[in-house]
Amino acid sequence: MISVEKGVRLAPHTYYNIGGLADYFIEAKTNEELCDGVRFSKDQSIPFFILGAGSNVLVADGGYRGLIIRLKTAEVTVSGEHVTASAGVPMALLVQRALAAGLVGIEWAVGIPGTVGGSIRGNAGCFGGEVKDVLERVEVYDTSSGDRRWLNAGECDFGYRESIFKKRKELIVFSGEFRLHSGDTDSARTRLKEYAARRSASQAIGSKSAGCIFKNISWRRPDVNSDQLLARFPSFRQFLDLPGIPASYCIDAANLKGTRVGHVQISPKHGNYFVNLGGATAEEVIILIGIAKDHVRRKFGLLLEEEIQYVGF
Ligand SMILES: Cc1cc2nc3c(=O)[nH]c(=O)nc-3n(C[C@H](O)[C@H](O)[C@H](O)COP(=O)(O)OP(=O)(O)OC[C@H]3O[C@@H](n4cnc5c(N)ncnc54)[C@H](O)[C@@H]3O)c2cc1C
Repeated sequence: MISVEKGVRLAPHTYYNIGGLADYFIEAKTNEELCDGVRFSKDQSIPFFILGAGSNVLVADGGYRGLIIRLKTAEVTVSGEHVTASAGVPMALLVQRALAAGLVGIEWAVGIPGTVGGSIRGNAGCFGGEVKDVLERVEVYDTSSGDRRWLNAGECDFGYRESIFKKRKELIVFSGEFRLHSGDTDSARTRLKEYAARRSASQAIGSKSAGCIFKNISWRRPDVNSDQLLARFPSFRQFLDLPGIPASYCIDAANLKGTRVGHVQISPKHGNYFVNLGGATAEEVIILIGIAKDHVRRKFGLLLEEEIQYVGF
């Protein structure tokens, strides 16, 4: 039987170190404990929220009125060129376990601080790689029917930081099966070092943040008229080879780097990182998000969309 804690402070469970109390909280080390948690929330008629590593969330200062299920499932198995990892496994561990088995192709994910579950849900990516490129299938728990089943990657509606799991909140990721390939692990380890160096050169590594606050502005967004934009802002041409215009570029161009609200600052190093300088509140982050959206809208006519997930608002 799971042990349900009451009145647990959520800040230490997030990379932002921000957030008030959850009414109820469990740590699920197995999928059965996860299901017990969902059953508990149904019995109590309260909502639940799945928390992975807490690296892409902003939790309200008032906390969460319901049950937080912190996923700590930790199984990784390798079979041939396939690696299957539970949702609670950190992406960095998945990369290391793959390399230890002589498998390459997922090195780009080493610096993503989230779990397999959170990264499948958000189709996390960097350095040209995305989860959808290496994912074969996903084991899913449907909390509305109680069914467990496998979805092929093609059934998951993956897009830029998008998936079926964002649209259908009743679906929880139990595990992911990744298709990698045998390769030169020495070169792969060299790539890991290069990625780490590139990250620390451009990002506020080690500071308290939720990574990128906003999604980049995809050229394919229905509200983005690329011809008009390029005519008005020729500097956007430099991003034509990318899937979109980096949100950090827009924030920088709006002269917002370094802007502070209370104890939160737009990183002077990377305009899409809003850093908790110590003692920040969710309210301060929200105000800064509003300022960035307002300035970028006025300057470029573009709407910044949040990549982070709000909890308890
Ligand atoms: C310093 C830093 C660098 C980052 N760099 C990158 C980067 O390069 N690329 C990138 O894409 N992201 C990056 N991120 C953001 C973040 O790490 C990713 O979005 C990550 O995939 C989130 O995983 P998580 O386990 O922390 O999810 P959480 O933050 O815990 O949760 C995020 C969302 O996923 C849901 N979720 C979690 N687990 C499950 C599950 N098993 N089933 C269904 N839903 C679930 C939650 O309910 C929530 O809605 C960075 C963040 C930080 C702090």
